[in-house]
Amino acid sequence: MEKTMEKIQALAKARGFIYPGSEIYGGLANTWDYGNLGVELKNNVKQAWWQKFIRENKYNVGIDCAILMNPQTWVASGHLGSFSDPLMDCKECHERFRADQLIEKFAEENSIALDGSVDGWSNEKMQAFISEHSVPCPTCGKHNFTDIRQFNLMFKTFQGVTEDAKNTVYLRPETAQGIFVNFKNVQRTSRKKIPFGIGQVGKSFRNEITPGNFTFRTREFEQMELEFFCEPDTDLEWFAYWKDFCINWLQTLGIKPDEMRVRDHDKEELSFYSKATSDIEFLFPFGWGELWGIADRTNYDLSRHAETSGEDMSYFDDTKNEKYIPYVIEPSLGADRVTLAFLCSAYDEEELEGGDVRTVMHFHPAIAPVKIGVLPLSKKLGEQAEKIYETLSKTYNCEYDDRGNIGKRYRRQDEIGTPYCITYDFDSEEDGAVTVRDRDTMEQERIKIEDLPKYFEGKFTF
Ligand code: ATP
Repeated sequence: MEKTMEKIQALAKARGFIYPGSEIYGGLANTWDYGNLGVELKNNVKQAWWQKFIRENKYNVGIDCAILMNPQTWVASGHLGSFSDPLMDCKECHERFRADQLIEKFAEENSIALDGSVDGWSNEKMQAFISEHSVPCPTCGKHNFTDIRQFNLMFKTFQGVTEDAKNTVYLRPETAQGIFVNFKNVQRTSRKKIPFGIGQVGKSFRNEITPGNFTFRTREFEQMELEFFCEPDTDLEWFAYWKDFCINWLQTLGIKPDEMRVRDHDKEELSFYSKATSDIEFLFPFGWGELWGIADRTNYDLSRHAETSGEDMSYFDDTKNEKYIPYVIEPSLGADRVTLAFLCSAYDEEELEGGDVRTVMHFHPAIAPVKIGVLPLSKKLGEQAEKIYETLSKTYNCEYDDRGNIGKRYRRQDEIGTPYCITYDFDSEEDGAVTVRDRDTMEQERIKIEDLPKYFEGKFTF
């Protein structure tokens, strides 16, 4: 079976996971809308993160900050000064590129070893590489590029009625800064002592030059970020702890070890303030892509906010009788990206006996958008089947489907990844029982209707 983005994207659209945005107006490039199943799937993914990172973790608490922040935030964080990508146009076909991505792709295809990561290269160094190696435009093959210019990725807008510099505000390009500016507030109100973390799930915006690969890179996306504050000198231990925690979260939810890898940044690639950074990558049908960035950010962010705001951002450690600015470990995950990874990982086409092929989404039950399909064998049995639906849908997201033949209905539930289907049949009146079909094994067992709540207990946790 060949797993391609085209197949996954087609299924996502046909079944209601993800549609192209503003479709009736011809769309808006690289925007996507989550449909009836997509919203359930993505909510489950976000909930699974919140559950393990916030609720079940004794160190952490959550927060939900405004998207618009005082622009000084972006001065302090460095986003106004340097959150930019190197942009370049082909003078022949007018295609626009990120120079760093063009170089990385060219080097990989031609087995050229790069001197560290292109991330840290100056415009001059990139320009020199492109002319020295005569890098062609991937679209038209010509060699005629404009100079490279830095393009700031923050979306700019205006607050209030006057559109002038004084009223300029930015859509946040990450959720992390809301956490840093509230560090003192949360520490005080939660009465947490170091080490502790603050997590947030929410929208971020980046005016990406080269969005694409479905929902992998978009201009509007959601992040799930944790900022974990610890004592200086304990940071590398906590870095290792959170790296393992993240790997574990992915694998518990069904990502297979051979679909992921951890890439540790070497010294040249590290940001100047970072002591260690690792990316967890996933093998998408289009190649390896970053899912999760985990960084030891030292005390850089809190120090920058202290300098810029004049507020004291230090922490008094009463066990040591010492004041310090905490170090920060940041695991930052894209909600849309990891949802796409779960979609890709779950997708399967299985050959059945007799040569038939069934498409099935093997979602972990905890993130499956529909947990239980309730399928009366005939419309005539609707009244009883509806009662089962009413009971179970108080606890689980269930789908009721009484249209078409039962085999087709099973296939449809397989395609949307429903772990269990209940069939109410003509014997059910007699024996007070139904069949429960397992999505993965396709095996069926007979369960008493009154035992169903007990039967499903614990089946959707992780
Ligand atoms: P990239 O190198 O892919 O642009 P990045 O290193 O800039 O990503 P971070 O700033 O570390 O990414 O963001 C943390 C996480 O947020 C990423 O690992 C990814 O999962 C998610 N993310 C970042 N940019 C986007 C985007 N444009 N679309 C979807 N998800 C994104």
